[in-house]
Amino acid sequence: MSDPINRAGLAKRFWERKPMDQLSGPEWEALCDGCGKCCLNKLEDEDTGEVALTRVACRLLDDATCLCSQYNIRHQFVPECIVLRPSNIKKNLYWMPETCAYKLVWNGKSLPDWHPLISGTPDSVHQAGISMRGQTVSEYEIADEDWEDHIIEEPI
Ligand code: SF4
Ligand code: SF4
Repeated sequence: MSDPINRAGLAKRFWERKPMDQLSGPEWEALCDGCGKCCLNKLEDEDTGEVALTRVACRLLDDATCLCSQYNIRHQFVPECIVLRPSNIKKNLYWMPETCAYKLVWNGKSLPDWHPLISGTPDSVHQAGISMRGQTVSEYEIADEDWEDHIIEEPI
């Protein structure tokens, strides 16, 4: 399978060699492992602030590829979709999946062997069982009040 995220021509282990706010645009994009977990709806406990991931996915998530089906124009359909940047990652860490490469690198951790930047193939995130491929339901199909029936454990 060709990589839907362009990771060609990047310096070896660039994420270990410079701070996140100095990554180029292509380097930043290449950090994404393509798991699709950030596109799941979350439930936040009002009292504790605890966040639970559900398998109820954003209407634009393609369950077969784990990619946004309208990435470049997604804000026309989902204006609240967050554009993750070095400047806003800190305030978003509380809801980001534990396996998210941006969270791992921000916290000074290594990328796992299944990350496409390590394995050399985008398939590895699916083969390792990390991605949400084939495991989501669309938010169109599940009423908001039933989301809690679809909470998933993290990391999966
Ligand atoms: S959770 Fe992180 S690594 Fe996974 S798709 Fe979202 S941004 Fe990419
Ligand atoms: S709009 Fe696209 S990138 Fe944003 S949450 Fe939905 S599927 Fe994910």
